[in-house]
Parts: sequence; C-alpha cells; structure tokens
Amino acid sequence: MMRGTILVAGSINMDIVNGVQAFPAPGETITGLGTAYHPGGKGANQAVAAARSGCPVVMLGAVGTDLFGKSLLASLSEEGIKTEEVIIKAGSSGMAFITVNSSGENTIVLSPGSNGLLVEQDIPEDRLNQAGMLLLQNEIPWPTNLYLMEQAGKRGIPVLYNAAPAHKLTAVVLPLIDTLIMNETEAESVTGEPVANVNEASHAASLLVSQGVRHVVITLGNKGCFYMDDEGIAVHQPAFEVEALDTTAAGDTFIGAYASALHKAKNRLSALLYASAASAIAVTRRGAQSSVPDEQEIELFLLQRINGQGGMSV
Ligand code: ADP
Repeated sequence: MMRGTILVAGSINMDIVNGVQAFPAPGETITGLGTAYHPGGKGANQAVAAARSGCPVVMLGAVGTDLFGKSLLASLSEEGIKTEEVIIKAGSSGMAFITVNSSGENTIVLSPGSNGLLVEQDIPEDRLNQAGMLLLQNEIPWPTNLYLMEQAGKRGIPVLYNAAPAHKLTAVVLPLIDTLIMNETEAESVTGEPVANVNEASHAASLLVSQGVRHVVITLGNKGCFYMDDEGIAVHQPAFEVEALDTTAAGDTFIGAYASALHKAKNRLSALLYASAASAIAVTRRGAQSSVPDEQEIELFLLQRINGQGGMSV
C-alpha cells in the first residue's frame, strides 16, 4: 500500500537543552538546572517521527565538520533513516539552544550552521524520483525549498510543508503545497490574520484554501488542531488530555506522524487522530527526538483513550 519513500529535506541540529526554574529577564544571569544534548532540528525530528511510525524515510540535508556532524548522522541511521545523501559542509552543524522552564514551556535560539548552506545542487534527482511524499519545513534556505516543491510538482509527488519558522507565502507558492501544516503563531505570520482559537484558525485556513492549498492543518497546542480542505471539509480535533512535561517537538511529532499516517493510506481524519495521539504522548516526555513515540505505542494509546480499554479487547 505504501508507495515510495517519505523524502524529508530539512534541518539536522544538535539541541542543547537547559532546564531553568523561570526564564531569565533581559540582562539577567540565572543558574540553570542542568544541560542535555539531544539530536534535533525540525527536519530530523519529523523524519524520526515518520520512521518510528513504520515508514521508509530518506533524509536530505547537511551537517557540519564539527564534533556533532557524525553523531547526528549516526543517530538518524539508528532509526533506520537513509542518510547516504546528507551532505557534509565545512563548519558548524546546526544547533538549537533550548531553555525549558518548570511549566514545560520553552524558548529556542536557532543557529542554522550547515543547514543554511544546503543548495539545489545538493539534491539528488533519483531520491526525488523514488519519493511517494515530500516533507519540508523552513529551516533550510527558501530557494532550496522552492526548487524541491517545483521538482515534486513536476513528478506528481504531494508536498507537505510545515511553514516553520514562518514567513508570508506568495500566491505562486501556495498551489505547490498539497498540505500546509503550522501552529498558531506560524498561521498568523503566513496569513497576516490573528490565530488564537478554533474560529480564527478556521478563518485563516479558509483564506489559504481559497488561494490554492489543498489541505490546511493548524495545530493549536492543548486546544488540539484544525483541519480544512478544498472539498469543504472542516474539522476541529481536540487534544488528548495528558500531563504536559515538555512541549519541545510536539509539532514535529504531530507532523511526522501525520505524514506517516497518510503514507500508509489512512484517511485524513484518522491521520489527524493518529498525529494527535503521537504528539500527546510526546509532550509527556522530555527532549525532542527522545520523546517521539513509535507506532505500537500510538496504536495502544488510541485503543486506551478511544475504547477505554487496556488494549486487550477484541
Ligand atoms: P508546536 O510544537 O509547533 O508549537 P503545538 O503546540 O500546536 O505545536 O502542538 C502540536 C500538537 O501537539 C497539537 O495539535 C496537539 O495535538 C499536541 N499537543 C500540544 N500540546 C499538548 C498538550 N498540552 N496536551 C496534549 N496534546 C498537546
């Protein structure tokens, strides 16, 4: 049933995570609660989420010649993700400096490093030809993303684009996107309209659909997500109730899981449910990739939450 691979072209970072009681004010120095290193980057995180959900994933991107480059590639390979075409560029790998407070909120400073050097010439044609789906974010140079979208379009490969970090999208770009996924803040940047609740998400999504995007998903944190398509289907999927510990990579988990569900030919609405379950599990754990659940965990969670069973029912 699965056709081709999920091709993820995007960022590969080392996340350096510091815990704090409360965020420092500008100019203030505070003592942190400890430091941890986690492989991250929106591209790599989403690739891991899709791979743990049982899909064949090929990663395109770039790491640096620093100490982190090799370990970042090794950690992707351990997930079964193909990394042969990831380019090694002289200089630093991408890094994200993440601070998590005692409520589980985060702030992130991103240093693009080698991710910012990925160009059109680094994209191998045969990987595009083998792809059943192209998953993109906005942590590699925009001209490279645009090239990839156009190449996918020529081959009839659906593009899932996570507009993160967001910038306004022109009328030329929107029809190249099969599924546009983003959170509230990103939806505001893309549309220029306020998006803080389900009604506003619906309004923003309808603007995007009217400009040629076929499917729009806006994630709304603990308020769940909103979906709209060009056939007039509009759905609010509430979030599952869980105790959130660290929301880092909630969106990435959602998107990778959503992509994998579509790749496995689940319909759009069950893909929303699957992705909501995956991201609800992820927010109960610390870290980025380390918090991403696998297919079995997600299916079990869904069984327990939807049927109220322990997963043993027939
Ligand atoms: P991002 O990480 O990009 O800001 P969101 O915060 O919108 O993304 O979260 C993505 C998805 O993760 C939501 O649509 C929801 O399904 C799930 N999620 C996020 N926070 C929670 C939470 N506190 N409880 C349950 N699910 C959550």
